Amino acid sequence: VPELPEVETVARQLAPCLVGRTVRDLRILDPLLRDCETPPAVAGRTVLRVGRSGKRVLVAFSERPGRRGALWLAVHLRMTGRLLWCETDRAAPHVSHLRARLRFDAGALLFIDPRRFGTFRWYRSEEAAAPRGIDPLSAALTPARLAALLGRSPQCLKAWLLRQDRLVGLGNIYASEILHAARLSPFRAAGSLDPGEVRRLLGAARRILERAIRHCGTTFSDFQDARGLEGSFQRFLAVYDRAGRRCRRCGAAVAREVQQQRSTYYCPHCQR
Ligand SMILES: [Zn+2]
Repeated sequence: VPELPEVETVARQLAPCLVGRTVRDLRILDPLLRDCETPPAVAGRTVLRVGRSGKRVLVAFSERPGRRGALWLAVHLRMTGRLLWCETDRAAPHVSHLRARLRFDAGALLFIDPRRFGTFRWYRSEEAAAPRGIDPLSAALTPARLAALLGRSPQCLKAWLLRQDRLVGLGNIYASEILHAARLSPFRAAGSLDPGEVRRLLGAARRILERAIRHCGTTFSDFQDARGLEGSFQRFLAVYDRAGRRCRRCGAAVAREVQQQRSTYYCPHCQR
């Protein structure tokens, strides 16, 4: 499942393709993708920005000529969703698992999603589209703010990082990697960190996420970026999916344990 770096990769690659283009038409081919009875009128609108909102790609559209009201589309890729940019829209009808197609004055954006868990959500304001949690890469997230969010939570750190109502964008891969980089046990209570450990956690989160973005994310099975290519951050993974192999820092064997039905990978020696 794409996490923050994968979604950021897609948004950064799509931005130069989409910004400034005007929508010719939108076709929703899969009824499951409709989030309301009448999809908003998109034709005639111009793309103003493409960014990321938590784990979703967020596209901002202008008002329609002569009408009021801008529009935002948030796309959640989930398991197998892909947003693919095509310079021409000729190929579109032949693509399999095509769930939606947004045609522009030149080119088309295809939403391809074999397992159909991805979602489209439309918003009338940017505030409405904003996630509840704070983005780990946001300048607004200071160590003091993170400490306040952690509060006195008795929840395990790993499970706490996966909640989307405190920090947004982290999933199983990056939660494991961040805790390893911060030398913190995934089983520690989130509210038990001292100020130095909170700073370590925040620093590790930013380091890992920024590095993953530089390498276009991690690909295990399904993730492909907007160009149809795979990310390469899997070469740098320190613990995730490395059970039994040597910790890259101390040489001890990486352990795997199941927390909330999900695998947690960690080094029992350097994450205490
Ligand atoms: Zn270690």
